[in-house]
Amino acid sequence: MKAAVLYKPREIVFEEREMPKVISDTDVLIEVRNVGICHSDIHYYIHGKIGDFVVKEPLVLGHECSGVIVDKGPAVKHLEVGDRVIIEPAAPCRTCDYCKVGRYNICENLRFMGTPPTDGAFVEYLTWPSDFVYKMPDTMSLEEGALIEPFSVALYSVKRGGLSPGDRVAILGAGTIGLMTLLATLACGASEVFITDIVDSKLKLAEELGATAAINVYKEDPIKTIKYLTNGKGPDIVFDAVGIERTFTQALNLVKIGGKVVVIGLGFGDLTTSPIINIPCKEINVIGILRYANVFPQAIRLAASKKLPLVKLITNRLDFSELVKGMEMIAKGEKDAVKVMIKVR
Ligand SMILES: [Zn+2]
Ligand SMILES: [Zn+2]
Repeated sequence: MKAAVLYKPREIVFEEREMPKVISDTDVLIEVRNVGICHSDIHYYIHGKIGDFVVKEPLVLGHECSGVIVDKGPAVKHLEVGDRVIIEPAAPCRTCDYCKVGRYNICENLRFMGTPPTDGAFVEYLTWPSDFVYKMPDTMSLEEGALIEPFSVALYSVKRGGLSPGDRVAILGAGTIGLMTLLATLACGASEVFITDIVDSKLKLAEELGATAAINVYKEDPIKTIKYLTNGKGPDIVFDAVGIERTFTQALNLVKIGGKVVVIGLGFGDLTTSPIINIPCKEINVIGILRYANVFPQAIRLAASKKLPLVKLITNRLDFSELVKGMEMIAKGEKDAVKVMIKVR
């Protein structure tokens, strides 16, 4: 089978690998169909690392994926050969303290697809523990299935942020995660959603998806505008989908007194001169998000039942052989590209 392997920064080689086999009784063998390119893939592609995770051995990237079951271990009861499935790319140890309380996203021994040393989904076939594989509703396409992973990040953020029906929210950043958070907050009952970015095409898409106001921070002061639109109070929750000093500062200044700031973006450096004083003075709850836990089933049901237009986030569709082209598209910062979707098979 074909695999796209990252050997060193900006060098992906297509090579033939042996077909994986079901070894554990509870594993399934999946023919990979659609895989979205994520910004974390791009980090590894350009820099060969994200923080402490360093690519030392050749690595297959990709973790936003859907596929079809082609074989299964004898203990797998909830899936059949031929089922179209969505893969949750995190396989936790199930025994550490965090796993035991259900917070498996911060598991001490987590295997995450496309993160060293675990190979990801830019391959034709892979095996995965069946309890992290979900059957897709018939109404959902395989492309939509591959968008459930980033949507789960958004839904988990909304849950952890404790959004209440009628809340007003602001989302800083209208990339994939920002736009997914927009869909998730609307689906969960936000009354008004303000979103900011620096690219007009993304803001236009945000408006199409239902944003109350989409603000280009190069043209308008987002704090002034959003405060004005919320009667001077500020939003109940601010989601920082960028995670740089500038957006974190905006979040702390923008959020309502007693409100919440949810940090999803991983753009942070180590040092910040953001007004941390606002955290006690405005009694802000600051909440960090690492991927997701316990939300895939809800994300799938919500996307299917509300017919969420997830596929509108796909701006580019490419074949497996064009993977490098897709990576470069995002690496070079092609500004109109939101989600680049790869059709593996
Ligand atoms: Zn991702
Ligand atoms: Zn664990």
